[in-house]
Amino acid sequence: MLSKLQRMWFVMNNKDGMQSVAQESGGIATQMMSAAFPTTVRTSLNQQVNPCDDFYEYACGGWDQANHDSIPKYQTSWALSWDRAQLNIQDKMITVLEKDDSSPGEYYKACVDSDRIETEGAKPIMPWLDLIDTIKDHQSLLDVVVEFNKANMDMFFSWYIDTDAHDNSQNAFFLTQTDTSLPDPTYFSETEDPEMVAHVDKFEERVGHFFKLIDRPDPKGEAKLVIKYERELASILVDRTTAYKEHAKKTSWEEVDKMAPAWPWKQWLTKLSTCTKPFNGVPQVCTDDHAEVLKVGTPEGKPLYLRNKDFFPKFSKMLETMPLDAIRAEMRWQVVNGAAPSLSTPFQDGMLDWYKDLYGVQERSARPRKCFYATTGSVSWASAKLYSDKLFHHDNRQAALDMLSNIRTEFLKAIPDASWMTPKNRDDAKHKLSEMFFEVGIPTDKGDNVDWPKRAHALDGKLGPDYFRNGEVATRVSMERALSKLTRQPERRAWGGSTPLEVNAFYGPKSNGLWIPAGILQAPFFDHANSDAQNYGSVGTILGHEMSHGFDDDGRRYDARGEMKDWWEPATVTGFKERSGCISSLFSTYKVMNKQVNGKLTLGEDIADAGGIKFAYRAFLHSKPRTDSEKRCVCVCACACAFECVRERECVRVSVFVRGKEKETEIESANGRAQARESERERGGVCMCCRYHATRLVFYCWHECDYCCGGVRLVL
Ligand SMILES: [Zn+2]
Repeated sequence: MLSKLQRMWFVMNNKDGMQSVAQESGGIATQMMSAAFPTTVRTSLNQQVNPCDDFYEYACGGWDQANHDSIPKYQTSWALSWDRAQLNIQDKMITVLEKDDSSPGEYYKACVDSDRIETEGAKPIMPWLDLIDTIKDHQSLLDVVVEFNKANMDMFFSWYIDTDAHDNSQNAFFLTQTDTSLPDPTYFSETEDPEMVAHVDKFEERVGHFFKLIDRPDPKGEAKLVIKYERELASILVDRTTAYKEHAKKTSWEEVDKMAPAWPWKQWLTKLSTCTKPFNGVPQVCTDDHAEVLKVGTPEGKPLYLRNKDFFPKFSKMLETMPLDAIRAEMRWQVVNGAAPSLSTPFQDGMLDWYKDLYGVQERSARPRKCFYATTGSVSWASAKLYSDKLFHHDNRQAALDMLSNIRTEFLKAIPDASWMTPKNRDDAKHKLSEMFFEVGIPTDKGDNVDWPKRAHALDGKLGPDYFRNGEVATRVSMERALSKLTRQPERRAWGGSTPLEVNAFYGPKSNGLWIPAGILQAPFFDHANSDAQNYGSVGTILGHEMSHGFDDDGRRYDARGEMKDWWEPATVTGFKERSGCISSLFSTYKVMNKQVNGKLTLGEDIADAGGIKFAYRAFLHSKPRTDSEKRCVCVCACACAFECVRERECVRVSVFVRGKEKETEIESANGRAQARESERERGGVCMCCRYHATRLVFYCWHECDYCCGGVRLVL
């Protein structure tokens, strides 16, 4: 999976080309700037800068200058190619959705019906608020928490169903900690930092504002209770660095009971696995697999795993002492926080005001854009099918498959040279790479036949003109489907949480496979009109990046079948640690906004980037004869020049990962797609902003060019 960190643009030149640059004093050799660079690349460069002094400025300076003031006000970040691809899809899909009569069209049309939404005001969430008022003790609290869970809202802790990493023929039930409403628990703990204190104050002010909108009798007092709850939650969460290193451990309910006795775990599971009629009139949706949920964690049932072990005893203590008033206030806030984007203008404006403070967003998205994202998020598979039927250029699929095949060939060719691996492990690595499957564009079966999952029709006949209700129906359907995963064997090629509509790409360690959605197989990432150099440089490096994830610090732990097995011999592990330590040490020397990058946390992405560019470049050179002029300047990776954050001072603090989506991703992630873990990794780095790219770009420059190594030369 590519993070925003990777949505960058860099231009790599072969050694001869770069040496000629180095010989030029203070600029780029004229011959390099000739026809070899496409116009779109040339206009993004700052030719006044030597790439080995500041590669990011060289590659992106022109685009930076021309575009810094044109970041759309509804965005927190803006990336040249990534957002162009997103906008292409969005504009075309809006036209399709306006005319569509199937479930995506229904969902979209209800969403753009602002008149109806405005008339409703806060009415859609009133049943939820009434339900919270019924909490009088821990027993009634349990009932309401179960309703929250069935509507995909977390309270106290989080849970999901995913492939069992130790036996990927089955799924397992996972318990994990939840999260605070602010992007990171450190917002609450850094009480000496005036900026952080101001963010917490703003959060409290916003909660009070929303409580006023829903006519609470003491909005300010209740907002203080929310802060009390969230502050205490923040204090017991396992920090990211620790959580990153921690793998889920197999456990039993008895152990969980002992660890966190204040929560009635078995009762909770029983209630969760009972399919009941929703309290608020939303239609009942039931699969027949609930009996399996009841058996979780028993010898005859599916396994139970626990992540963030240290959190659970602390949560239990917190539950014993936290006043019910504070819990009810927190739950009201959770309802409003989740629902506000789907409610009337005062709620949406209330959110915008908060996001201005947190992320620097200046205005709300236009309604059609918002509804495009709402539709493709909630009716995701039907929307993806619509895109495939109406808009996807299916011949791009074959082109990507050819590139993947060429990149894998180069990867395989390089393995015998990996002298740090033992001969046995070199064979194992070849085997793993050969077994890696490529799921490109749209879902297919083993025989390469198109194979859309049933969920592409899951909402047929279930939607109507009520936008909020549609959202609740879609959530219920997806939660039932998530629960029913327990009885199904993981399907190796299943797409999990991503769909073909996404502009992204994924490697699944538990499946040892690649998913390359249709969304990314379009201009500017891939275009038949582009030169091979451009296509290998853009989408080729992305494909190589994902392939390399199979051998990064985490992916290496899984074998050719995607099971977590220790298949690396000690000498290979030592060799890997030496070499990867070189990369993490390098990245740890960088500072972003005066915060030190933690190269250990960004290691997987850094390895994948390096592998991606290396093998895509070799595939370009060797897949067919290239002329000298083609080779002289190779534009690698027309991905994106990006502004990651409008307000740079927030960069180091703000995770761009949207709260709420994480849960959904985990629940939806069939077959160990591992997006959630990926996001964990991506959030682990200290930086989330554009200047980070500079460090990576310089790294490539060092990596590829002897003369600008500055004493550092890495050979992967
Ligand atoms: Zn990645």
